[in-house]
Amino acid sequence: MGLLDGKLAVVTGGGSGIGRATARRMTEEGARVAVLDLDGDSAQVVADEIDGLAYEVDVRDAEAVKSAVGDAAAKLGGLHAMFNNAGISTIGRIHELKLDDWHRVVDVNLHGVFHGIRAAVPIMLAGGGGSIVSTSSISGTNPAAGESAYSAAKYAVIALTKNAAIEYGPTIRVNAVAPGYIHTAMTNPIVEHFGAHSDHIVGITPAGRIGEPEDVADVVVFLSSDLARFVTGQTLIVDGGLALRGSVVDGVLDTLTGERA
Ligand code: NAP
Repeated sequence: MGLLDGKLAVVTGGGSGIGRATARRMTEEGARVAVLDLDGDSAQVVADEIDGLAYEVDVRDAEAVKSAVGDAAAKLGGLHAMFNNAGISTIGRIHELKLDDWHRVVDVNLHGVFHGIRAAVPIMLAGGGGSIVSTSSISGTNPAAGESAYSAAKYAVIALTKNAAIEYGPTIRVNAVAPGYIHTAMTNPIVEHFGAHSDHIVGITPAGRIGEPEDVADVVVFLSSDLARFVTGQTLIVDGGLALRGSVVDGVLDTLTGERA
């Protein structure tokens, strides 16, 4: 018997990295999953693999998210688990950051989560229950220089998670995950161009390694399942202990700019 037997789930940013791993793990645990991604082709590849549904959706577009989540729920027969996971990052000092970059990063990482919660809640309330999980980051708990937009958005996801848990309990549980340094397309540039930095991060991480998408996916499955029936409004840090000692991009801005402000 799977942890998510008979559950129907939506995963945003499900075409890659943590979202893809979660769509796969949810399916292994018995769920039917709809994969939403900006990249419709990657969403389709994952959906084909897990016998799920694929939607090309930009999470910045509230109507598009609502329409895809509604369509998926109609086709799958309901909605029990929503994983608001799509995200992007940028790096630069506050006064040098392009305004467009600030708005894009906040739009995807925070407004995308807001749109996902708003799309899922009416369906879950009508269905009598559900679990919402959103992706924050240790950048939202332990910010480093250069990640203002990303940190602000990820910190806000933690607050929004608490708001939603209060508003929609006991019918809907709402939690977040805060990954640390996870090996995905998002962190590939750091791994490739800052090898020494990666070695340093591994060195200060109590678990002694970089995380894999499946490390986060398993926690999302737990939070989406009845095993977490008394857990709501929480942000679970999934970082091998890294946040005890630092943040993923600590020092990267200095390395990039070659100087301190
Ligand atoms: P990833 O492999 O790049 O996956 C992110 C996915 O989100 C991609 O498929 C991407 O599509 C999609 N996406 C981006 N913008 C979108 C939009 N506007 N609408 C819909 N989908 C969009 O990176 P990841 O590491 O798995 O990231 C997943 C989440 O984990 C993000 O929220 C990220 O901030 C968070 N996180 C990651 C780490 C880490 O170390 N990797 C640490 C902490 C938090 P495209 O490929 O087409 O852009």
